[in-house]
Amino acid sequence: STPDLSPERQPEDPDAALRPKSLGEFIGQEAARENLRVFIEAARGRSEAMDHVLFFGPPGLGKTTLAQIVAREMGVGFRATSGPVIAKAGDLAALLTNLEPHDVLFIDEIHRLNPVVEEVLYPAMEDRALDLIIGEGPSARSVRIDLPPFTLVGATTRQGLLTTPLRDRFGIPVRLIFYTQDELTEVVTRGARLLGMPMDPTGAGEIARRSRGTPRVAGRLLRRVRDFAQVKGVDAVTAQVADEALIRLEIDALGLDAMDRRYLTMIADIYKGGPVGVETLAAGLAEPRDTVEEVIEPYLIQLGLVARTARGRCLNDRGWNHLGLSPPRGQQD
Ligand code: ADP
Repeated sequence: STPDLSPERQPEDPDAALRPKSLGEFIGQEAARENLRVFIEAARGRSEAMDHVLFFGPPGLGKTTLAQIVAREMGVGFRATSGPVIAKAGDLAALLTNLEPHDVLFIDEIHRLNPVVEEVLYPAMEDRALDLIIGEGPSARSVRIDLPPFTLVGATTRQGLLTTPLRDRFGIPVRLIFYTQDELTEVVTRGARLLGMPMDPTGAGEIARRSRGTPRVAGRLLRRVRDFAQVKGVDAVTAQVADEALIRLEIDALGLDAMDRRYLTMIADIYKGGPVGVETLAAGLAEPRDTVEEVIEPYLIQLGLVARTARGRCLNDRGWNHLGLSPPRGQQD
C-alpha cells in the first residue's frame, strides 16, 4: 500500500483498475458485507455519519477497497492517509479540521500511529473535538475545537496490534478472512473481463487456486499471466497456459512463492521442524518480524502447513509433505 496524504491513491497504483466500486460489485466477505450494508443504510436513514469502522485481516483482502466503498455508498468524501505518515499531532489536527461533515477518513496501518497522535484521536472519535495546546511554557493553554461529524475507518493486519483504548473506540470491528477458491475464481474472471483478456474458466480456476486466498495476489498473477499469454500469442488463457506462466514465476501448486518456501525450508532443514522462535526465523530470512507474522505466516497457518505454538513455530505433516520430505521419526503430528 502507498501511504500518503492525498485523498486518493496515486494513478499508477496497479490495484486501482480492479477495485470494486460498490458493495454489490465486491466479491466474497459475505458476513462483513451484509453487516456494512445494514450500518450504511441505517446511518443514511438518520442522515448521520456512520460509526467508526475497524477493518482487520491480512494484506490485500480488501480493507482499503471497502473503506472507499463505505464513502461511496454513504455519498460522502473520502480522505486517506496512513499511521506512519502522520508524524505530529498537528498533522492529524489539520486533516480532521479539513473534513466535510460525514466524510470518511481512512487511516491505513492505524496500529503504527505515534502515541502522541493517538491521544489526539481519542476525543476526536468520541466527542468530535480536538484538544489543542496553544503556546508554550507558562502561557500555554488548552483549547477545545469542535469537529464536524465524521467516520474514521481504520485498517490493520491484526486487531491485537491496536492499543485497547483505540480498539474500544471503534463501534464496528470487521474481520476480513482469506477468500475461497470459488470467490477468487470470480475475482479473476471479473479482472480478466476488465483487462479485456480472453479467459477460459479452467484458466481462471488455476490462477484462483494459486492466489494465496488474496485478491491482490490474484490481480498480480492475472497481469503476469496476461503478459505471458500475449507474448505467446494464445487465444485464451487455459489452465495449461496459466500453469506454464505461474511455474515461471515460481508459484507452486498451493500458490506459495519463493519466500514462503524459504520459510518452510528453513524450519525443516535448520530447525528439524521446530519449534523455532519467530525472531530467529525473521533474522534467518532477513525480513522484519512484522512481515513474517503479518504477511508470510497467516496463509501457511491457514493451509495447516505450520503451527504457531507457545514454544515457537512448528512444521506440520502437511508442511513436510509439501516440501516432499518426511518428518523426522517420532515427530509426526
Ligand atoms: P488491503 O487494503 O486489505 O491491503 P485492498 O483493498 O487494497 O487490500 O485490495 C487489494 C486489491 O485486491 C485491489 O486491487 C482490489 O481491487 C482487489 N480486491 C480486494 N477485494 C476484492 C474483492 N472482494 N473483489 C475483487 N477485487 C478485490
